[in-house]
Amino acid sequence: MAKTYDYDLFVIGAGSGGVRAARVSAGHGARVAIAEEYRVGGTCVIRGCVPKKLLVYGAHFAEDLQDARRFGWEVGETKFDWSVLRDNVLSEVDRLEGIYGEILERNNVEAFDQRATITGPNEVQLADGTRLTAATILVATGSTPIVPEIDGKEHGITSNEVFHLEAIPKRVAIAGGGYIANEFAGIFHEFSCDVTLINRGDQILRHYDEQVRDRLLQISLVKGINFIFNAPFEKIEKQEDGSLLLHMKDRDPLETDMLLFAVGRAPNTAGLGLESASVELGKNGAILVDEDNQSSCPTIYAIGDVTDRVQLTPVAIREGQAFADTVFGNKPTRVDYESIPSAVFSHPPIAGVGMTESEARTKLGSVKTYVSDFRPMKNVLAGRNERSLYKLVVDDATDEVVGIHMIGPDAPEILQAAAIAVKAKLKKSQFDEVIALHPTMAEELVLMR
Ligand code: NDP
Repeated sequence: MAKTYDYDLFVIGAGSGGVRAARVSAGHGARVAIAEEYRVGGTCVIRGCVPKKLLVYGAHFAEDLQDARRFGWEVGETKFDWSVLRDNVLSEVDRLEGIYGEILERNNVEAFDQRATITGPNEVQLADGTRLTAATILVATGSTPIVPEIDGKEHGITSNEVFHLEAIPKRVAIAGGGYIANEFAGIFHEFSCDVTLINRGDQILRHYDEQVRDRLLQISLVKGINFIFNAPFEKIEKQEDGSLLLHMKDRDPLETDMLLFAVGRAPNTAGLGLESASVELGKNGAILVDEDNQSSCPTIYAIGDVTDRVQLTPVAIREGQAFADTVFGNKPTRVDYESIPSAVFSHPPIAGVGMTESEARTKLGSVKTYVSDFRPMKNVLAGRNERSLYKLVVDDATDEVVGIHMIGPDAPEILQAAAIAVKAKLKKSQFDEVIALHPTMAEELVLMR
């Protein structure tokens, strides 16, 4: 007789990936439970993409209010109240958390608001000691901000805490040069902070096209954001007045009021009990999985950041969907990782899809690039000397557009549509056939010759 379990599926972690996997599996008829130790919604909804984007909107008013005067608006004295923005953002997060909870409930997924750990290939233990069995276990525990092992690291904060600040500090230092560093450098700068971004290397946003990230660096410098490159931290000292003294290798120390660590995120596998089911881990403690998200233990699967493949919410959601369709929907599905669009919500934002110019030159050899370097008409009237840059990377042999890279207002909004063309492997000549939609910034995409 087949062994019976309490559930067909037990999901650990109710973030974007876990919730999608749970609800779709339940829709396919599986008996599903999910455990979440913090808040339903996960990093993206609770302390990542969503509240960050709302802060980006809030911060951008600093420029919009200035520019409004050039468009004829009399703007009186303006004042920014952080507590209003913070509290409104946090209540929006509460609302979304409620919706995620309802999604689970509506789909008959049993939710446990406590930590679950694995105690065997088919068993989990909840924090209250309850042991439950499942035919399949899905680990979707996400990732956690890395705090480097340096003296005084406890004086810094991470993106987990940044949404809850009591007040906006005067001086902000940010360790790292990636997504979070550049996004929060922009946010705090718009809030009138004196911002310094400190990077261990000499490049920001290493995986983006060089010309585009150089443009962000140049615009950020002109705005007044400070950058310190090649400056690994040695120690962090808290001074009597509460300020921090940051000691870096071969540099004068920097005094600041807040240090934000944005040096990457590591998979959340510590203390999960994965060894009890012989689940193999890779670099950074990531769960190693095959193309079907299955770990070395056949009953245990993993999706999202905990697998450290592509740390992006929409990818975790796709993986959750593919897992549910494959394992419970009788519809084997694999995620296609080619041409994933991504964006950095800096001021101005960056967006890209496909190969950067240097990747294309390495992989394809002969490559043509088309660049439009222009000042958006809104910036011209506003007297804002900030130029956008759009770039098409084209395979010379096939005329296929293999990459699009952009920096400028609304770049992520424009790129999402343009990414369809790259995914569909459209040719440059097909871009040329499209008549421009005038006057827009996006028309540059079909006007580059
Ligand atoms: P990123 O991976 O984007 O960048 C990490 C940065 O920290 C790099 O500049 C890296 O330098 C540096 N770094 C790494 N390790 C150390 C160290 N030990 N000491 C000092 N510097 C170090 O990480 P983030 O923390 O910004 O973001 C985490 C992940 O979250 C991102 O990878 C992304 O996937 C996701 N995310 C996505 C967003 C979006 O889609 N808009 C927004 C925010 C986060 P080096 O270049 O030398 O390696």
